[in-house]
Amino acid sequence: MKTTTRIMPATKRIALVAHDNKKADLLAWAKDKSDQLKFHHLFATGTTGTLLSKHIGLPVKCLLSGPMGGDQQLGALIAEGEIDMMIFFWDPLDAVPHDPDVKALLRLAAVWNIPSATNKSSANFLMNAEFMNQEVNIEIPDYAGYLAERTQA
Ligand code: PGA
Repeated sequence: MKTTTRIMPATKRIALVAHDNKKADLLAWAKDKSDQLKFHHLFATGTTGTLLSKHIGLPVKCLLSGPMGGDQQLGALIAEGEIDMMIFFWDPLDAVPHDPDVKALLRLAAVWNIPSATNKSSANFLMNAEFMNQEVNIEIPDYAGYLAERTQA
């Protein structure tokens, strides 16, 4: 796959998701980081986002609840270049009914090369990255080239 770049803005569009057993952890983490998070645009699956806006008082764009399609909505936004990074506290010790959607979301985050944290320490590393508050170029698949290759006669 050939690649190209896109500019990620200084103000990031951050997706936040937590599975049920991880919601308390994500809420505590977000509260701790609220002074940093308030400079960014927050998106979340329905339950996570509703709890976040209630508990940390920051505006959150809530999508559908994860099992009802919210993970897929986030995946679509990532594919369209509308999300810059993802903090996803998924639960490695419990089965969820929407496991295929979870896999799809993690897969699309990898395809589109967005910084993704799947636990608290990687989320802390991301928040401490110098790129967090500056514009940065990231490598992404060259979709136009990919399509042209697949459609040439
Ligand atoms: P929820 O979805 O925020 O609506 O609980 C999260 C998920 O399980 O993907």
